[in-house]
Amino acid sequence: MPDNKISTFDVTKIRNNFPVLNQKIYGKPLIYFDNGATTQKPQVVIDTMSKLHSEHNSNVHRGVHYLSEQMTEMYESARKKVQDYLNAQYSHEIIFTSGVTASINAVAYSFGEAYIKENDEVIVSEMEHHSNIVPWQLMCKRKGAHLKVIPINAQGELLLDEYKKLINSKTKLVAIVHVSNSLGTINPVKEIVAIAHKNNIPVLIDGAQAIQHQKVDVQDIDCDFYAFSGHKAYGPTGIGVLYGKERWLNEMPPYQGGGDMIDRVRFEHTTYDDLPFKFEAGTPNYIGAIGLGAALDYLTGIGLDNIQNYEKKLLDYGTDKLTALNGLKLYGAAGNKTCIFSFLLNNIHSYDVGMFLDKMGIAVRTGHHCTQPLWEHYKVEGSVRASLAFYNTLEEIDYLCEALKEIQKMFK
Ligand code: PLP
Repeated sequence: MPDNKISTFDVTKIRNNFPVLNQKIYGKPLIYFDNGATTQKPQVVIDTMSKLHSEHNSNVHRGVHYLSEQMTEMYESARKKVQDYLNAQYSHEIIFTSGVTASINAVAYSFGEAYIKENDEVIVSEMEHHSNIVPWQLMCKRKGAHLKVIPINAQGELLLDEYKKLINSKTKLVAIVHVSNSLGTINPVKEIVAIAHKNNIPVLIDGAQAIQHQKVDVQDIDCDFYAFSGHKAYGPTGIGVLYGKERWLNEMPPYQGGGDMIDRVRFEHTTYDDLPFKFEAGTPNYIGAIGLGAALDYLTGIGLDNIQNYEKKLLDYGTDKLTALNGLKLYGAAGNKTCIFSFLLNNIHSYDVGMFLDKMGIAVRTGHHCTQPLWEHYKVEGSVRASLAFYNTLEEIDYLCEALKEIQKMFK
């Protein structure tokens, strides 16, 4: 596989690894500030996937021939890479899915079938992505259970005292976002897990916006489930991960049936394969999984500490510059946050701001960012969201601020 490791953090060198960044949009250099929606892919991921398609393609687990065995080995080695990246105890605790949404739906269905009864409760928070709300609502509806919601303060931080008050003998699971995609808040997941565990309640963490920004150690956090998507971590689309503690995954029933997940099929009765295959019905996205492995290698090569330090610089610089802009209101001022700037400019609709920024070459996201209940809290419809990555620069933040001043002038 192509190797592309970087030993020291050098943003110019890093930018050269991302071919998509080297282009103009409407004649202006592209400034890609939509990393919360999806990240760009380094050349090593593009090359890995292209080589797999052109030289190695063959279905996994089923063949006795060379290509199939080779692909199976690479697929299982990608699982091992994810295990190492998350510091999971066993590689069979890593289930490949199509993304974090699929991972959460899998737990909502399977855990729901195994453990949830009428009048039980599941706790989520006010800052959840719809992907960590709707699957629980569907499960609650099916089972006659109820959703309870941890409120947030004005800075966009969870109110842990309120969380403690929600826990009772009916609580069966806590599902919480690690890093808010709309506010950037980094939640104290270790503490949240410890509180739940004191009451024997398992915790699922939505890590969609976390694992690309900081080291995540599932054994240290001690969470029961952890979910993330490849495409938000510089890997391919259509691949994601569900980490689950062996104990739960062994007890939980499969949520999809089909090839690859079985032990023995008879019309009267079917038995299932062991972990992780019990939860991977059908042909898996093996090329995506191996591409994800390449992305994780790339991140490890740069060093998550280096990434975190550099992104903190971007966060501090951007916060100072944006708060100095008259008429700009920032949402999300948590003491611990990632490099996400959610804002509204004067009384200009977020969509208009996004459209004008686009014409200046700046890609941002506008609207509710799939967190409608969060925006209800702030009594607005949504925001303009600039979500930064380690290939962004301080100069790009300057350019954003100048562009926002231009927009203010236009709307005066
Ligand atoms: N959870 C969070 C916090 C997110 O930011 C997102 C995507 O924006 C998701 C879940 C859903 O991710 P996916 O669409 O990759 O399944």
